Parts: sequence; structure tokens; C-alpha cells
Amino acid sequence: MFNKLIAAILPYFPKKFIWIFSKSYISGETIGDAMRVSKELNKNKMTVTLDVLGEFIKTLDEAEENKKQYLNLIDVTNKSGVDGNFSVKPTSFGLLIDKNACYEHIREIVKKAASYNSFVRIDMEDSPCTELEIELFRKLRTEFPANVGIVLQAYLKRTLSDIKGLADLNSEKYPLSFRLCKGIYIEPEAIAYKKYEEINQHFLEDLDFILKNRMHVGIATHDKPLIDGAYKLLEKYNVPKNLYEFQMLYGVTPKLRETIVKDGHAMRVYVPFGEKWFGYSTRRLKENPRMASHIIKALFYKG
Ligand SMILES: Cc1cc2nc3c(=O)[nH]c(=O)nc-3n(C[C@H](O)[C@H](O)[C@H](O)COP(=O)(O)OP(=O)(O)OC[C@H]3O[C@@H](n4cnc5c(N)ncnc54)[C@H](O)[C@@H]3O)c2cc1C
Repeated sequence: MFNKLIAAILPYFPKKFIWIFSKSYISGETIGDAMRVSKELNKNKMTVTLDVLGEFIKTLDEAEENKKQYLNLIDVTNKSGVDGNFSVKPTSFGLLIDKNACYEHIREIVKKAASYNSFVRIDMEDSPCTELEIELFRKLRTEFPANVGIVLQAYLKRTLSDIKGLADLNSEKYPLSFRLCKGIYIEPEAIAYKKYEEINQHFLEDLDFILKNRMHVGIATHDKPLIDGAYKLLEKYNVPKNLYEFQMLYGVTPKLRETIVKDGHAMRVYVPFGEKWFGYSTRRLKENPRMASHIIKALFYKG
């Protein structure tokens, strides 16, 4: 109840106040901010995935604008020598307005990334997008097998069957590339696991299948028991270093992140940036009021 209340009232607080907690999770408003933070992370032996804040646009003009931002970001990242790739949210390119236009926009972004030998990850959004995003991925992967991957959410009951459904695309030369996370949206019980233990159990089942079948995976979690479970599976299947990495969100559990790097595993940090940070932060709160307690903690830790 408390979390829900905080999530509901925070959007009405002054922007400056919200920035006090958002700055822990968002690298800044400009590409320059994102490059600065990324270089710092690179120095500490971590790669990044860059995300321009946006999502759920209302017109296709906004999609065009978002595409231009990504094309520029890819050029700037390459020129800056940052070791990173890119994450996109298809609704920022009009997935729910015109899926073909969205496909063409993301195709252009992947093509640009491919020209630098780089990579684009399709983030997974809420359940009305699941099928459409998998379809989008399948089409892009056929054309750019080395340059595109997708996110899957362990809380969805369909996920293991989605992984199996995509397995025909896996090959030794071009392993399928997934990011596996728990999932951040509020979904109905009919399609999603709700309990912490259930979600974790399915996360590890999905991960087991991916690793056993030699697909590439970004293990995206800050949850220690899941990280321990992942360590065991990596050992069990003797997984080579080129087939996995750990991934964490910028600003979350930095100590645990460093421990994983010290243990000798690759780590990629998700670095969001952009002028739309305010809408992004407050929308995320409404989607997942549990985040409110993290914000309150962040406020206190920052004095
Ligand atoms: C790299 C990356 C990319 C992601 N991409 C997507 C995506 O495309 N689609 C999607 O639906 N979800 C995505 N997520 C979010 C993910 O689904 C989870 O909601 C989020 O990672 C929290 O789950 P957890 O596994 O860390 O476990 P939890 O059980 O939620 O958290 C474990 C512990 O981590 C810490 N923690 C977790 N989150 C925070 C936070 N925000 N602030 C402070 N502490 C925190 C807390 O100490 C908590 O107890 C992504 C996550 C990561 C790491």
C-alpha cells in the first residue's frame, strides 16, 4: 500500500526532487553523459548497453525522431571508442501503431550497428508486445544473425516454450542471443508467475535450457540466489566465456556487480539516458510500485 501511494504521488513532486533518486539509475540527459558513464564502467572492466529513454509513443513522427537519435548514438559510441552495444524498446518506434513501420525503423538501426560489427538487443515490454516483439526478432535475426538479440522474461509462463520455439535459429556460428530477466511489468496471474520462489525457479529452468543448448545469454539479475544458481549451471555445463555474460542495471547493486567481475565473469551494465528521464522514472514507478521502496532507500542513503 505504502509503495503504491508513493508511486502515485511522486509524479506530482518537482522534477528536481525526482532527479535526486533518478540520477542513481540514469546516466544523464545527453549522449555526452552516457559516454562519460560508459567510459568509467569500461575502465572498471565492464561493457555497457545503451538505451535512449522513450517508449510508448503516440505518433510515427516520434518514431522517426527516436530512430535518428539511435543512429547518431551508434556513430558517437563508435567514435568515442566505448565498448558497448544498444538496447531498443520497440514501442519507441511505433510497434503498437504500425508494426511494419516499427520493423523498418529497427532494421535501419540494426543495419547501422552491423556496419560497426556491433549489436542491438530488443528489450521485452509488457505482454501485449510479447508476440509482436518475438516476431520482429525472428525476422531481423534471419537478416542479421550476428547483430541482434532479444530479452525474455522468466515470470511469463510461456517463456520456456518461446525459447524452444526459437531454437531452430540457433547455430554454432551464430548462437541465438537472449537476455534473461525476471520481468518488470505487472502482468495478470493467468499468464505470469507471481511468487518470488516460482519466478526464480523458472528463471533457472529457462537458463538451464539455454546453457545446455549452447545459446548465448545475458544473465540479467541483481538477485544473489539467482546469481549463485547461475554460477552452478555455468559450471555444470562447462559453458565457454563467449556464450554468457552477467548484466545489471546502472546504479543497482554495484558491489555485487564488482564481485562478479572479480570472479572472472563478463559484466554488461544497462545505461539509460535521455531528456525523457522524468516520464520514464515515474512510469516505471506506476508499473512496478515495489520500486518505490528502492527510491525511498536511495533518498535516505543520499542524505
Ligand atoms: C540489464 C537488465 C535489462 C533488463 N531488461 C528488461 C527488459 O527488457 N524487460 C523487462 O521486463 N525487464 C527488464 N529488466 C528488469 C528485470 O526484469 C527485473 O525487473 C529487475 O532486474 C529486478 O529483478 P532482479 O532479478 O534483480 O531481482 P529482484 O528480486 O527484483 O531484486 C533482487 C535485489 O536486487 C536489488 N534491486 C533490484 N532492482 C533494484 C532497483 N531498481 N533499485 C535498487 N535495488 C534493486 C534489491 O536489493 C533486490 O532485493 C532488466 C534488468 C536488467 C538487469
